[in-house]
Amino acid sequence: MGIIERMRLDGKKGFVTGAARGIGKRTATAFAEAGADVAIVDLDIEVAQQTAKEIAEKTGRKIIAIKCDVTNEAEVQKMVDTVVAELGGLDFCHANAGICINAPADEMTYQQWLKVINVNLNSVFLTDTIAGKYMLAHGGGSIINTASMSGHIVNVPQPQCAYNASKAGVMQLTKSLAVEWAKKNVRVNSISPGYIGTELITSAPQLKPLIEQWNAMAPMGRLGAPEELMGIVVYLASEAASFTTGSDFVIDGAFTCF
Ligand code: NAD
Repeated sequence: MGIIERMRLDGKKGFVTGAARGIGKRTATAFAEAGADVAIVDLDIEVAQQTAKEIAEKTGRKIIAIKCDVTNEAEVQKMVDTVVAELGGLDFCHANAGICINAPADEMTYQQWLKVINVNLNSVFLTDTIAGKYMLAHGGGSIINTASMSGHIVNVPQPQCAYNASKAGVMQLTKSLAVEWAKKNVRVNSISPGYIGTELITSAPQLKPLIEQWNAMAPMGRLGAPEELMGIVVYLASEAASFTTGSDFVIDGAFTCF
C-alpha cells in the first residue's frame, strides 16, 4: 500500500473533545476528510450539533455530537460507550478540550489553579485511560493529546502558570501511557501548537495588542491557522504512524526555537 493510502482513515471511528469550535473542530474535520466517522464531543451541545452537521455535509461521513464534561469520569465513560455503540468501535481519539486562565501566580486563587489543572490535565487522564481501556481490549488504537508550546516555554507577557504546568503534565502523561501500552498496539502522542488564530482569539478586540506582541516575537511574524494542525493529527491517527508513539509534535512556526 502506498504512503497516501496508509494515511487514510477509511472505516475508522474516533472522537475529538472540545470539538465544537476552534482547533478541535478542524481536527474532527480532518479525520472525516480522511475517511473516518467522528464524534464531536463538547460541553456546548448546541454548537457541537451545528459543527457535526457542517462536517457531515462537507464529508459525507457519519458525524455525531455528544455532550460531555471531560472532567467528569462518569460522563467520559458514557461518552466513550456512546461512541462505540453509535459509530461501531473506537480506533482513535483526540483529547483536545482545554482552557486558559491568565493571572499572576501571586494573585491566582487555588480554585483557578484547580480549574485549569482539572480541565487541561485531569481530563486527559480520564479520556486517555477510558478510551485506552477499550482500545487495549479491542486490538489497539491511536490517542492524540493537545499539549501546547506552553509546556515547553513560559509565554510572555501574559502570566499563565497553571496553563503552562498543565500542558507540561499532558506531555509527560502522554509519554508514560505510550511506554505502558507500546507492546499492546495503543500509540499515544501529543501535539504542541504555538499561538493559533482561532475565531475566539482573532475576533476579540481586547486581544489585538497581545497578538501584535506575539507576532513581533514570532519568526514567521503571524499566528498559525487551526487548519495548519490538520495534517499532523491525520498522520498520527493513521497506520503511517505505526512506529510513532510517545512523541510530542511542536507546531509553532519556529516560535520556541530561540
Ligand atoms: P476553544 O476555546 O476555541 O475551544 C475549546 C473547546 O473546548 C470549546 O468548544 C469548549 O466548549 C470545550 N470545552 C471546554 N471545557 C470543556 C469541558 N470541561 N468538557 C468538554 N468540552 C470543554 O480553544 P482552542 O483554541 O481551539 O484550544 C483547543 C486546545 O488547544 C486546548 O487544549 C488549548 O489549550 C490548546 N491550544 C490552543 C492554542 C491556541 O493558540 N488557540 C495553542 C496551543 C494549545
